Amino acid sequence: MERPAIIHKLASEQRTPPHWTDFEAERRVDVWGLARRALQGLPGGGLNMGFEAVDRHAGGVLRDRIALRFVARNTPALDLSYGQLAQQTNRFANVLQDLGVNKGDRLFVLAGRMPELYVAVLGALKNGTVVTPLFSAFGPEPIATRIRLGAGQVLVTTDALYRRKVKQIREQMSSLRHVLLVAEDGGITNEPGTLDWHTLMALAPDTFSTVATQPDDPALLHFTSGTTGTPKGALHVHGAVVTHFATGRYALDLHPDDRYWCTADPGWVTGTSYGIIAPLLQGVTSLIDREEFDAERWYTLLEQEQISVWYTAPTAIRMLMKAGTELARRHSYPALRFVASVGEPLNPEAVWWGQEALGLPIHDNWWQTETGGIMIANTPAFDIKPGSMGRPLPGIEAFIVEHLEAEGEPPRVRIIDTPNVEGELALRSGWPSMFRGYLNNEARYRQCFAGDLYLTGDLARVDADGYYWFVGRADDVIKSAGHLIGPFEVESVLMEHPAVAEAGVIGKPDAMVGEVVKAFVSLKDGYQPSEGLRMDISAHARKRLGAAVAPKEIAFLPSLPRTRSGKIMRRLLKARELGLPEGDTSTLEGGA
Ligand code: ATP
Ligand code: MG
Repeated sequence: MERPAIIHKLASEQRTPPHWTDFEAERRVDVWGLARRALQGLPGGGLNMGFEAVDRHAGGVLRDRIALRFVARNTPALDLSYGQLAQQTNRFANVLQDLGVNKGDRLFVLAGRMPELYVAVLGALKNGTVVTPLFSAFGPEPIATRIRLGAGQVLVTTDALYRRKVKQIREQMSSLRHVLLVAEDGGITNEPGTLDWHTLMALAPDTFSTVATQPDDPALLHFTSGTTGTPKGALHVHGAVVTHFATGRYALDLHPDDRYWCTADPGWVTGTSYGIIAPLLQGVTSLIDREEFDAERWYTLLEQEQISVWYTAPTAIRMLMKAGTELARRHSYPALRFVASVGEPLNPEAVWWGQEALGLPIHDNWWQTETGGIMIANTPAFDIKPGSMGRPLPGIEAFIVEHLEAEGEPPRVRIIDTPNVEGELALRSGWPSMFRGYLNNEARYRQCFAGDLYLTGDLARVDADGYYWFVGRADDVIKSAGHLIGPFEVESVLMEHPAVAEAGVIGKPDAMVGEVVKAFVSLKDGYQPSEGLRMDISAHARKRLGAAVAPKEIAFLPSLPRTRSGKIMRRLLKARELGLPEGDTSTLEGGA
């Protein structure tokens, strides 16, 4: 199949007319003002994320539309309409009120992707209570650390998770006032020192007046993925809903008749911003799969659930690629019209794979826990350059900057005007979903700003057409013989080799050149590590990258260490290579 450097957007191929088509014109629009006006606001004034996501529709024509559809292997699907979601979240907000949990108090949810998690998050938002969803696979230590750091007063979890992970550490979390348990068998729980979710919900009234939150009131506390170090707690406000609304249109092109599937777990920011809030704001039906990744299952769901917009991540795409294009082709996806990805750089190989396997290219987009919403994206409105993360969305101003001093306080930077020069990616502060602080770490927060520029910690370049190209995280860039080498470029080339499923590249200290490039690769199904294969991959990399940039060493691993949100942990590859301490591994997939 042809692999063009640009994938053109043809109007005739877009079954649903996209929300926008003119990049330049849209960037002149007051997007935040428009989004604010499209939202309803609270009856007595104020803005509330939960109200906009649920009640705005529950009181209108979308009342009976399915908001959330939960599927699992051995139980029938469960649908919740916007009207039902409004009632359930009202009940939960009343439960919180009864317990004396108020605006500004902090609630944590530790649960799999089950309906009660969504009800708890949205109900707490309506009550003005600040919410943190945690990955249900976290072990006791990461749970305790986060609840302590966030001074959580309420925990919603299941009886089974409580017994396995919380009970023994409960005393370490002195801020916790209430623990609410959802019985996984649907019955009633009677663990000492806890309350039963179903009993409280049954007794609570299903009407509630949303607490009067203002745009600057805290709404969500999200922990970062911990890819580069100890996870940071980023605080977000109700006003972020304006970004969620605008980006749901610009970057995901959601229309009310869409059937949408965001594969991210609510335990990290994508699963909340784009797995809960943004789709509800657009009135779509969201699919929530309660099971773990399984290639065959995912293709079946895409087909049978008639998913039209799909938001997933490079790690999932790589796993699908690993399982082979054949499997994808055994199904057909007539409803699917838009596919997007976030979380890590999306190798060009993966963009083309989308085209081959699903009949659609994959739209990479870029953002961070700190930005609260999608900032730079490939969208329906313009052509895709595979390997680029796209262009800044309307309302967002992005820059490439260079630091004037190595480590200044506050940092001082200069904007680089010349295209194609690598530097740190920065954004002009002021978009509505910008984080408002790192929990208990004001100094770290201040380090993120140079004047009104927010410094992202990622290195990138911008081409003459305004497309941004990810180079690597500032921490991961390799310095070799005077060159700066971005791991992404090397990894993308390794991924071109037919045997390579995933690749992680690090710099290994070297007396002569500073650092040499070392690659770790895992192989696609059907390939075995061998010296011959190593040499073949190495020759391919040298041909494509030149000897200075190609990896000097290639090691095979069955799989690469990654975070629970699916990012390759290069710092761990490096620590292991050098025999150094592994640092914070609380978010390591498969870890405790
Ligand atoms: P920590 O800050 O704790 O090290 P993290 O940065 O991985 O963890 P997140 O906020 O979940 O935590 O991830 C945001 C980061 O993920 C971005 O800063 C960027 O490095 C990477 N990222 C996200 N999307 C993309 C993308 N489309 N292309 C390249 N990198 C991306
Ligand atoms: Mg980060």
